[in-house]
Amino acid sequence: CAGHVNWDVTLHVDDLPDPDGEAAITHQSQAGGGSASNTATALAGLGIDVSLLGSVGDDQYATLARDELDSVGVDCSALKSVSGETTVKYIVVDEDGEVFVFANEGVNEAYDADDLAEETLAAADRLHLTSQDPSTAADLAKRARKRSIPVSFDPGRRLDTRAYDDLIREVDLLFLNEREADAVESLLETREFPTVIKRGNGGATVRSPDGRITHEGFDVDASDTAGAGDAFAAGYLASVLRGRSVRDALADANACGALAVQSPGARVDLSLSAVERYRRDH
Ligand code: ADP
Repeated sequence: CAGHVNWDVTLHVDDLPDPDGEAAITHQSQAGGGSASNTATALAGLGIDVSLLGSVGDDQYATLARDELDSVGVDCSALKSVSGETTVKYIVVDEDGEVFVFANEGVNEAYDADDLAEETLAAADRLHLTSQDPSTAADLAKRARKRSIPVSFDPGRRLDTRAYDDLIREVDLLFLNEREADAVESLLETREFPTVIKRGNGGATVRSPDGRITHEGFDVDASDTAGAGDAFAAGYLASVLRGRSVRDALADANACGALAVQSPGARVDLSLSAVERYRRDH
């Protein structure tokens, strides 16, 4: 899993702040965050061996982030330490689970494709890219493809540039939310590989040259939607890595997304048995 590794401070408020930033904080929590590390921890919870590629600073937040990742079984040996501040994201969540995010400068973009050791790549069954700057993502994808390692990509709210066009065309599995899918519709029409389109409380659709498969999602009371897409991707990837059908992968992914929106912060404690139980009971 390659991309952002942050420390998240979640501030719970009654209402999202007005433009002047005034909001009464009812309570707060802190945990590791960043799209790649959210997906990595979710994959580890689902029993997948996962190594995290990204960068943290040399401050106390880096120690907190590493300790938390270690404790849930994510391999951090390929994580890069650079001099500077770990990126800290402040996530403001209102009573309806809507989120507003701001962050310090941080070093979470300091990871380069050259930082990936050949033996780490060689040991992988799949490379998942998320929230990464376009040139690093493209270079990592190129290195993986040279070794015939499949690559998946979730732009994670960064689809604001044409620089991702090649990745969108080429990756063997693409995750987009509805807004992102609308923005790149013309590219999706010519894609030869599956695209998974997430629809919030409406579930998700897998679109491929063979047709479309939809899962309607689960009806839940969302309390915090941060990290839902990351957990969703982990659920889908874990199923694909286990050789399950597209239909099952989609149901597993939606169950992970539903569990994530009921869990505070960008992280969610997932396990195979929790996902199975959730699917059976809902
Ligand atoms: P992203 O968080 O990446 O923008 P979505 O908002 O579509 O993407 O959420 C990702 C997935 O999380 C959805 O496909 C769904 O499985 C789950 N999800 C998100 N919001 C809800 C909700 N309100 N109720 C149930 N499931 C949700």
